[in-house]
Amino acid sequence: MEPVPYLTQRLQGFGTTIFTAMSALAVETESVNLGQGFPDSDGPVAVSQAAIDAIKAGHNQYPPLPGIEPLRIAVAEHRLRFRGQRFDPAGEVLITTGATEALAAAMLSLTGPGDEVVTFEPYYDSYAAGIAMSGAQRRVVTLRGREFAFDPNELEAAFTPNTKLMLLNSPHNPTGKVFSRAELEIIARLCIENDVIAVTDEVYEHLVFDDAEHIPLATLPQMAERTITISSAGKIFSFTGWKIGWACGPAELVNAVRTAKQFLTFVSGAPLQPAVAVGLRLGDDFFGCYTAEMQSKRDRLVDGLDAAGFDVIVPQGTYFVTADIGPLDERDGIDFCMSLPKRCGVVAVPTQVFYDDAEAGRQLVRFAFCKRDEILDEASRRLARLRDRTNGAS
Ligand code: PMP
Ligand code: GLN
Repeated sequence: MEPVPYLTQRLQGFGTTIFTAMSALAVETESVNLGQGFPDSDGPVAVSQAAIDAIKAGHNQYPPLPGIEPLRIAVAEHRLRFRGQRFDPAGEVLITTGATEALAAAMLSLTGPGDEVVTFEPYYDSYAAGIAMSGAQRRVVTLRGREFAFDPNELEAAFTPNTKLMLLNSPHNPTGKVFSRAELEIIARLCIENDVIAVTDEVYEHLVFDDAEHIPLATLPQMAERTITISSAGKIFSFTGWKIGWACGPAELVNAVRTAKQFLTFVSGAPLQPAVAVGLRLGDDFFGCYTAEMQSKRDRLVDGLDAAGFDVIVPQGTYFVTADIGPLDERDGIDFCMSLPKRCGVVAVPTQVFYDDAEAGRQLVRFAFCKRDEILDEASRRLARLRDRTNGAS
């Protein structure tokens, strides 16, 4: 890849995010956009109305650096209600500009040159950039097979005396994997044995299907004291553009993250913060219906992809389903996704871009199902043309 003029060495190679590139392609080609993960309908009216009310009531100046107290209290209550985790809103909860800022601030404040960060691939794209910006190195362990399982020996070998941090995403984007308790126990043991901090990205915590269970790593024995738990309102309330996230953990770790955060954005989203507090206190009916609705969307798109001839890996969580393009006589996900708009008017994301070892994800493609049913049906109809062509029907 040609060096980008002016761009500092540590950010060379990062280019433009795949989500930006694919959404632009969808607009340009007027395709159905199953690429970037954002819903195409709004979240709860009670939450958006609370934001409107907050603007009208004058909540329009800088909120306090750690976030407004009512939101920090609501985050702590939410963690206790759904995950059994206890955080003191006074020093153990930090409101951030989305999970993205929480992740970046964690990398910048907890790691630096000479440190290593262990994470799984495929990985959410901001991880590599956040680690690079801090000057640390990433050590990647590949999730393999239909279960996206890791080899415990490989994970153990990734921990070195330089390992400072383990970055874990569950429910996992892009695969839709939800890490099991047995897997989390292995990760926890390695963090404890190597005295490593854990940072967990749990933005899809309410998008867990069938009998899968979301277990925060911090709830395992001896992990609370070494873990920063990150989540965000974007995916919980279908307001991805609001960018209200949070990082929770022991006061000393949160304090370190806050030190970096204050020089990134300082603060943001004054009128959105009270609205998210309203959302986090919605009844169980909201959270239950939301998960059920997304599970039915998952099933709808899984059926569509299956009928179109993909080898579909049914996700346990998130907004995304992964499909292998092999049965369509396709070998390369990037080529496939770049030609898809022209061939049938659909945009998807090549999973390969989330790997260091591109070969491991070459045939995998990610489709987002957080869309209205009619959009998912239209995408399925369009994708069915691929199978018809493969079979020589048209
Ligand atoms: N982590 C993962 C795994 C994501 O998919 C996303 C996108 N929602 C983020 C972090 C970023 O979250 P936010 O939009 O709250 O910054
Ligand atoms: N998290 C979203 C996804 O995985 C994208 C967010 C972004 O565009 N940065 O599709």
